[in-house]
Amino acid sequence: MPETQPTQRKVPIGAIKHIALVAHDNKKRELLEWARFNRELLAQHVLYATGTTGAMLERELKLPLIRLQSGPLGGDQQIGAKIVEGEIDFLIFFWDPLQPLPHDPDVKALLRVAVVWNIPIACNRATADFVISSPLMSAAYERLLPDYESYRLTPIATS
Ligand code: PGA
Repeated sequence: MPETQPTQRKVPIGAIKHIALVAHDNKKRELLEWARFNRELLAQHVLYATGTTGAMLERELKLPLIRLQSGPLGGDQQIGAKIVEGEIDFLIFFWDPLQPLPHDPDVKALLRVAVVWNIPIACNRATADFVISSPLMSAAYERLLPDYESYRLTPIATS
């Protein structure tokens, strides 16, 4: 017997996307090359970045961006919080699969929260190429979200 599908709600995303960019140290050069190549497209959106990634992008691209804390100092968590609050609707996150990092729990938390809120995530250059060239990048879009109300209302046993 199939389970009843939870109801869903739609969250509108405008043609101008709020994009967060993050790259771990071994991936910064790759993100920078990608961002240089796509500078004109990125310039049409509102950009956020963690501290060091942001400094590098500002210097190289001369584009305005909202710079948060460095990742290991809580920048990933700031991005996660902004996703939850509906401020950020796109994540370009070149994380390093070959090196353990002091803030690994934050990395996992950011990836998890992006999935919870159905945020598009590009974790490598090929995916970033595909998403940046999607016609949806310059169009309004309705992001579907499960209706988490039933989760919120789940009774907790207290005795
Ligand atoms: P950074 O942080 O941009 O300050 O290097 C990225 C990260 O490690 O998550």
